[in-house]
Amino acid sequence: MKYISTRGDQTERRFCEILLEGLAPDGGLYLPTQYPKIDDATLTRWRGLYGNGQPGGYADLAFEILSLYIDDIPADDLRTLVRKTYTKAVYGTDAIVPVRKLVGDLHIEALSNGPTLAFKDMAMQLLGNLFEYELARRGEALNILGATSGDTGSAAEYAMRGKRGVRVFMLSPHGRMSPFQQAQMFSLQDANIHNITIAGVFDDCQDIVKAVSNDLAFKRAHKIGTVNSINWARLLAQVVYYFAGYFQVTTANSQKVSFAVPSGNFGNVCAGHVARMMGLPIHQLVVATNENDVLDEFFRTGRYRVRASAETHETSSPSMDISKASNFERFAFDLLGRDGTRVARLFGPAIAQDGGFQLNADDTARIATFGFVSGRSTHADRLATIRQCWAEHQDMVDTHTADGLKVAREHLQPGVPMLVLETALPAKFAATIEEALGRPPLRPAGLEGIEALPKRFTTLPVDATRVKAYIEQHVAG
Ligand SMILES: *Cc1c(COP(=O)(O)O)cnc(C)c1O
Repeated sequence: MKYISTRGDQTERRFCEILLEGLAPDGGLYLPTQYPKIDDATLTRWRGLYGNGQPGGYADLAFEILSLYIDDIPADDLRTLVRKTYTKAVYGTDAIVPVRKLVGDLHIEALSNGPTLAFKDMAMQLLGNLFEYELARRGEALNILGATSGDTGSAAEYAMRGKRGVRVFMLSPHGRMSPFQQAQMFSLQDANIHNITIAGVFDDCQDIVKAVSNDLAFKRAHKIGTVNSINWARLLAQVVYYFAGYFQVTTANSQKVSFAVPSGNFGNVCAGHVARMMGLPIHQLVVATNENDVLDEFFRTGRYRVRASAETHETSSPSMDISKASNFERFAFDLLGRDGTRVARLFGPAIAQDGGFQLNADDTARIATFGFVSGRSTHADRLATIRQCWAEHQDMVDTHTADGLKVAREHLQPGVPMLVLETALPAKFAATIEEALGRPPLRPAGLEGIEALPKRFTTLPVDATRVKAYIEQHVAG
């Protein structure tokens, strides 16, 4: 399998070449030259492999899917890597992503039982093992620099902790993450993990990352890399749980299901798109946004409009607070018949000059043929959904999952199972759970005293020079 850019550069690259990279050189995102098509016999065989979530079933399924896309890691090595990643010890169950029925055709697929209680663990844990493997093979090191308002940073740190050849420098806005999220990140004592709190807001952290990355000499000298959601390996890892979810609610390949996905950067649901392109019988992909409704607007109207920071709302489902959807260009490429020249024009000059674009009527009409529908959810919807779910089903969902559930209900169709992807556990967002239910969220065993653990972080001013100096100092050692 080879990979090309969404902006027209036809240079073909292999998986391990793009593994440690961000954007393609022309500014586009990487996608496979085509999606492997799964026939009925293969789907049946995979159903058997996953079984009813038997021990090792998820890892075996992951190996089958990943090996269609990765041909530059020997099969035995790849198998070892996925087996090491998807274990009951890390995810709590052999099913790894267990589905529970809420009511009727409505189900929840649990993607948040990894170490940081959010779905980003599903991909990041694999990425940690892939990075360690590939860096050792090359005899290289990598210094990951990132900015986080919560979920991404902690998932990256828990995936990279103790990994040979990798250091993490994670910037976060000082005192602005939830106490639980701060405790999760700052309690890590691994020498290769560096938490840097910035005396500013999340945008300041992102600006510093950009400033450091734009200093190409510094970037090269200190082997600076990222783990953001546009990384193809992260997206690929997520394809697996669409299959695992499907097998849990169907008994025959003739049955179709829909997925409702709480969305921000379009990474999670883009993996659903890939699964559907491979032939997984998905009826609809329901894109659920919060008040930051860039994607809902697009899927209803064909208009894609990047929001200014003043227009980007701080909400109670903060991991979906985005001004643009970084992975969305991948779907646009497929929607527009893989016309890289057009994608380059829309995502380059059109966004730079006009802040977005409006697709013509024909292209807009074609969106539905890819199964996409959408909806949005507000703070009031979120509270109501959390309350109703708790009162009627004794099921406590987090704020992001609540957005997915709210929009899922609007698109339920008789006889079609709907799987709402649970993207975080309520324990991470205690304040809103208290507001909705008047009680603290449930917390998984073993995390009771986490806020009391010693914290390890350094605070720096909003100054890229100081961050560079800190990195220089800690890379040398
Ligand atoms: C990151 C995240 C999302 C959004 O996922 P995208 O891939 O960016 O669309 C939703 N919910 C939670 C809890 C997250 O951490």
